[in-house]
Amino acid sequence: MSDKGWSPDSLRLQFPILQREINGRPLRYLDNAATTFSPICVQEAVAQFENHSRSNVQRGMHQLGIEATDAFEAARATAARYLNVASSDEIIFTSGTTFAVNLVAHCLGQSLQPGDEILVSVAEHHSNFVPWQRLCEQYGAAMKLIPVLASGALDLSQLDQLVTDRCRVVAVSHTSNVTGSIADVQAISRCARRQGALVFVDGAQAAPHGPVDVAALDVDFYAFSGHKCYGPTGIGVLWGRESILQTLPPFLTGGGMIERVTAQDTRYASGRRRFEAGTPPVTQAIGLGVALEWLMDQPWTEIRLYEQGLMQKLLQGLFGISGLTLVGERSLEQRAPIFSFDIEACHSHDICHLLDEHGVELRGGHHCAQPLMDALDLVATTRASIGLFNNEMDIEALLDGLQKAVEILR
Ligand code: PMP
Repeated sequence: MSDKGWSPDSLRLQFPILQREINGRPLRYLDNAATTFSPICVQEAVAQFENHSRSNVQRGMHQLGIEATDAFEAARATAARYLNVASSDEIIFTSGTTFAVNLVAHCLGQSLQPGDEILVSVAEHHSNFVPWQRLCEQYGAAMKLIPVLASGALDLSQLDQLVTDRCRVVAVSHTSNVTGSIADVQAISRCARRQGALVFVDGAQAAPHGPVDVAALDVDFYAFSGHKCYGPTGIGVLWGRESILQTLPPFLTGGGMIERVTAQDTRYASGRRRFEAGTPPVTQAIGLGVALEWLMDQPWTEIRLYEQGLMQKLLQGLFGISGLTLVGERSLEQRAPIFSFDIEACHSHDICHLLDEHGVELRGGHHCAQPLMDALDLVATTRASIGLFNNEMDIEALLDGLQKAVEILR
């Protein structure tokens, strides 16, 4: 820690990839909302498991199997602590958020009746939109939408009317992958509870920004992806309230999710085991467990202060670029460090290519949020998303690169 407070300088040493150069320039990675990097401790834990204990889990007939199962279950317990939920028995390992939404949508779908309603927001990532839309098509349910304000933040003013007594599920993201806006999940859940609807929260963009108090959110499901939380790819977490998991039918069937199989029929395992068919992503789960421990060890109060400084610098710089419109709240309250913008007469793909020449890695396009783009009358935006290792030089390189790109493109 420096005398000015926390800075990412020492933390950056834990990310060997940051020593890379792109087009002869230092790597300035600002696409953390898509996928971020893993610190050395995660890479070492993965290598240690692969080289010393690699084996299947929950079939502990031998030493390696016992070690693998212990490490895998420890990762599950870590995920439960990260989300502040009561029991690791409520944690289901998935391949990511997309899988988790599909799992829950599929399982809840079995009991949907024609005329039932599912409420999602216009601002959802397609992963938390298309599975519900398809479910409604399949079961004759109605999909209703929470609209957005001009800033892209959810407009909750009509929420009481939108959540009717036919509403079965409300599915929203905790933090928008386009605007960085943090939704008032507690208000949404209070409203859903009054009508007996379940609440599913897509935490893909919230979980990377520090431990989440799911208990306080008072929701029924919460999902996130490992690769955005400094963990491996191919792993994610779905938390589900145990009393609800017990009532759901299975999703995938096969080994590991059964109690007893006979030639005539199958009795399924109860609780979360019912939803983990086949060999799980053991190595990835162990890596994710270490990533979440690493995240829980970070000094979040200091990090948030530092991050506010970076966000302020970024916003000030962006507003100095002619023709730039920020998509999202200008305020630093209730937002994560994810910034989308549109620059007049400059296509986001061209901006990204030009910035890449400066070593600055951004994301351009519709960000898998086409209903939001439609609502805001946009086709695409350019997005810069800040991770724990980003520093002032990254922001300066971004702003400098944007100025130059605008000069070239106009
Ligand atoms: N929801 C949100 C808000 C996201 O940002 C993403 C990833 N871009 C997803 C869901 C899907 O995550 P994954 O691809 O890891 O399944």
